[in-house]
Amino acid sequence: MNDAAKNDVPMFDYRAQLQPLRAEVLAAIERVLDSGTLILGAEVEAFERAFAAAHGGGHAVGVNSGTDALVIAFLALGVQPGDEILTVANTAVPTVSAIRMVGAVPVFVDVDPRTALMDLGQVPAALTPRTKVVVPVHLYGNMVDVDQLRALVAGRGIAVVEDCAQAQGASLRGRPAGTFGDIAAFSFYPTKNLGAYGDGGACLTRDAQLAERLRSHRMYGFAGAYYAERDGVNSRLDPIQAAILGVKLPHLPRWVERRRQLAALYDRTLPARIQRVLPAADVAHGYHLYVIRVPERDRVREALRVQGILTGVHYPHAIHRMRAYAALPCAAQSLPHSEALAREVVSLPLWPELDDDAVRRVAAAVEATVDAVVRGPVS
Ligand SMILES: *Cc1c(COP(=O)(O)O)cnc(C)c1O
Repeated sequence: MNDAAKNDVPMFDYRAQLQPLRAEVLAAIERVLDSGTLILGAEVEAFERAFAAAHGGGHAVGVNSGTDALVIAFLALGVQPGDEILTVANTAVPTVSAIRMVGAVPVFVDVDPRTALMDLGQVPAALTPRTKVVVPVHLYGNMVDVDQLRALVAGRGIAVVEDCAQAQGASLRGRPAGTFGDIAAFSFYPTKNLGAYGDGGACLTRDAQLAERLRSHRMYGFAGAYYAERDGVNSRLDPIQAAILGVKLPHLPRWVERRRQLAALYDRTLPARIQRVLPAADVAHGYHLYVIRVPERDRVREALRVQGILTGVHYPHAIHRMRAYAALPCAAQSLPHSEALAREVVSLPLWPELDDDAVRRVAAAVEATVDAVVRGPVS
């Protein structure tokens, strides 16, 4: 994250965003230190209220990470070992780590190659009597049509947990990501659209009873003092991170708007022959990542790196191909679009403080580099 040379275009650098907020952030940290409360308390509650309000209401429950937000969502929904959870294989590993943490079995459907999102057409055939939850992953800030997904699983006792780790600020038909499922899981990992200065996450739900269960599961399963009503973990949003997030939250719409501007600039500047991963219909994309597909991906990235342009890959391995899951039935699945994406995707630098000139420079270098690599070495 900090090893870029002076003229490099890094994938991410939180320090440019900290600069104008520094005084407010430091004051928020001091307020927590002076408050006399270092676990949960008023700071966490205030952020939870603000975060829920930013999503039009409901209940937010602050936890220690996006992974934990998924784990705690599954616990609150009563997922049992051996239950199946349906999701996609081109996601961050933590989507699946969380499934395994509760002893559930991941089952994958392939993705639409245009959007890199769950192919809803494959969902009905993938449901079994053991399917307990479906997890649509709003990858890159793009959004699965969760209304359509809900209609596909209706009446079967299947819950929907939105993985919103990459989708803060995105919306579908005017409604924010995280307001469609039974529970939504958010990450405040520093690179995310709303990032903490350390780990953090939250669950969001409209259901007051589910919210109570989420609060209980994040704290040893407590119901009242020192009394466990159910199984639980220790996963609480830290009040220092909550106070920092409270400073940052009001800026999120502006930051997402800037991400959209930069994405539009990439769209205009990159030649049409460079293949983009496309926004889904009816979505106001949150542009956590701007992703293209290129042949000879690793050679293209290395050639860009030499020119000082640092790119990312989200993600280089489809989950069902990883050793951790080799003993599970998913290891035998064939998911050609997910596997092709894992070979070809490149994420270009995109963060709100990046300037237009940097994006133009990246786009020009990508064009020249892809052309050179596709032509092959000059003999
Ligand atoms: C970042 C991310 C997570 C996990 O969040 P952490 O806060 O790092 O635990 C889960 N799912 C997706 C899609 C992510 O991008």
